Amino acid sequence: MSQTLKAVRGTRDLLPPETELWNRIEATARRVFARYNFGEIRTPLFEDTGLFARGVGEETDIVSKEMYTWEDRARAQSEKPQSLTLRPENTAGVVRAYIEHKLGETGQLQKLYYIGPQFRRERPQKGRYRQFFQIGAEVIGPQSAGSESPLRDAEVLEMLATLLDELGIVGWTLELNSVGSSADRARYNDILRSALAALAPKMCQDCQRRAVTNPLRVLDCKVPEDQPIIETLPKIADSLDEESKTHFAQVCAALDAAGVVYKLNPRLVRGLDYYTRTTFEFTHGGLGAQNALLGGGRYDGLSESIGGPKAPGIGFAMGEDRLVLTLQAQEADPKAASPLFADAFVAPMANAKDAEKLKTINAAALALARELRRAGLRIELGEGSFRLKKSFEAADKCARRIVILGEDELASGVLTVKTFATGEQAKVSRAELATFLASPAGV
Ligand code: AMP
Repeated sequence: MSQTLKAVRGTRDLLPPETELWNRIEATARRVFARYNFGEIRTPLFEDTGLFARGVGEETDIVSKEMYTWEDRARAQSEKPQSLTLRPENTAGVVRAYIEHKLGETGQLQKLYYIGPQFRRERPQKGRYRQFFQIGAEVIGPQSAGSESPLRDAEVLEMLATLLDELGIVGWTLELNSVGSSADRARYNDILRSALAALAPKMCQDCQRRAVTNPLRVLDCKVPEDQPIIETLPKIADSLDEESKTHFAQVCAALDAAGVVYKLNPRLVRGLDYYTRTTFEFTHGGLGAQNALLGGGRYDGLSESIGGPKAPGIGFAMGEDRLVLTLQAQEADPKAASPLFADAFVAPMANAKDAEKLKTINAAALALARELRRAGLRIELGEGSFRLKKSFEAADKCARRIVILGEDELASGVLTVKTFATGEQAKVSRAELATFLASPAGV
């Protein structure tokens, strides 16, 4: 017997009715982004590996151990194989597209959003998958377009607060920090490295490695025993130059003016190398260990690091899987999520032994269903050979009403409709049927 095939570890199928929730989240995001004048960008699911190595950073966990990378040999023999990678995030792809299409030459700010799958070889657990979905946006452009202004940071954060509220996410927290310019960060990295030289041997294995390769990442450590040590480390705020301090103060002032509540978190440095100045995360207590709903920040040097012009920018990526988990947990009983219900079940009725009549009534039922669907109704179509009892049982499971279409109804143009919630039975003319089915069907 052959082995049963299953979805690969860390990937999953999304089925109805849960996909309704996914669609609702995406529709809300598109609506909110449009109000802030963002347009959609769709970049390829895979890119040259070099984009992520240079853009995201060789030392990051993502690039050093989580990417799905392969050698593409399907090119001409004279060419060298190309190393390709499934995108682990979308900012690098958006900035590559910005450079490739010379979007900076418009002189305008580019405000782009994306919705789609990302791939990371992480250890799967609740809220962490190997294929997951992100909804993200970027504001990027030449300095002359105001791309470096702290107002852009504040506007993006205010938009996110609005989006989470409109999605109905209750109890989120915005955590905010500044990691300064790349020079500030380099200075701070050195300070941390010296401080860690004596402390790292008392810390976890990962921290011992990070203390050498990427000391900033020590601040991300979640191991409880390491926390008291981390608390004693120098703070990045003390390494910021005057310009970075002023920039951050202006972001905070604009948020205060707009009434967006935030919490300063000096340890928030984020895992990706390209961040400069403002970094942020929106967290939610209901998510457990994987508590970040979204993360983002400013990346003023990213375009140059992948060979483009100077193009400061700021962006974020929300974990759509985690938005879904949060919204499901907020509902009283997520298991009770109701299945999809059609407005009506069209039940053709014929004597199964009379093949001619069966054919006629089934065809008439398809025509009726077509008419109702074109009128905007959600319709389930039955089968003429079912006995009346079987049609009723099937209809009761998936629709609010049943419409009977037998020979008599076909001849008279008057249909029998039963509303399950109230038990009412009515005779409705075909001309009035769509309006009748669109009316409330009881509790
Ligand atoms: P990052 O690109 O790492 O800054 O992540 C941005 C957001 O994407 C996080 O805050 C999460 O909500 C989500 N995310 C990142 N990695 C995963 C994953 N493996 N599974 C599910 N969601 C993820």
